[in-house]
Amino acid sequence: MAMAAADTHVEKVNSREVSPGPILLLGAPGVGKGTQAKELMAKWGIPQISTGDLLRYHRDQGTPLGVQAKAVMDQGKLVPDDLVNQMVAERLKQRDTAEGYILDGFPRTLGQAKWLDRHIGADPTALPVVAVSIQVGYTQLLRRITGRRTCPVCGTIYNIYLQPPKVDEKCDLDGTSLVRRSDDTEEVFQERMRTYESQTAPVVEHYRALGRFAEVDGEQPVDQVAADVIAAVARLRSGTGGH
Ligand code: AMP
Repeated sequence: MAMAAADTHVEKVNSREVSPGPILLLGAPGVGKGTQAKELMAKWGIPQISTGDLLRYHRDQGTPLGVQAKAVMDQGKLVPDDLVNQMVAERLKQRDTAEGYILDGFPRTLGQAKWLDRHIGADPTALPVVAVSIQVGYTQLLRRITGRRTCPVCGTIYNIYLQPPKVDEKCDLDGTSLVRRSDDTEEVFQERMRTYESQTAPVVEHYRALGRFAEVDGEQPVDQVAADVIAAVARLRSGTGGH
């Protein structure tokens, strides 16, 4: 793409004139992917596609796919690529994805990433995936996860390190003793980190090698992280006008 055209595309992406296309958010547990997905949905009016949510929906509805996936999910293992890919293919047929979509939790394996590129590439007019990884240091992630407390009555979420209640371990709103989620322990967090790193490292390398990968600092305020993600997408799009 010529420089002038690239600049124009960046401006257009920033000003919502053109579709942002498919955006993959990557990041370890606790980096704030869900929060950022909501920011991007609000900015661009495009849907978030979470394969975890889709699989839970199929499981709860008892569809043939859900029945197959249930046992695997219950063990915390990965559902086979073919099943997940097919489910994503169905979801991408829906019209709300025409301008773009935010992928959350997919692709999680190299096989899924290659399938997705082929699937999208089958339409010569479609924009390819750009991947943005949200980076948060280990210590900060650990604090976010192990410091998290919730009021069991009103659902208010606190963090004893980053956003503590006025009185230790008590809800500011109703005085109820706060509770800690059973999987918010350091041990479980370390296991989730190991799983993330082993599964996702090849996906990161795949998009990096294609020049469709960027990292943003996730330790900044939410608005700033969102601004950086949007700028990264615009920058990457300037080099990915076509396949
Ligand atoms: P999540 O909510 O993203 O943590 O996903 C919950 C569970 O759904 C995972 O533990 C996997 O069993 C399954 N799952 C979600 N996304 C995928 C994927 N892209 N590939 C395989 N399994 C997945």
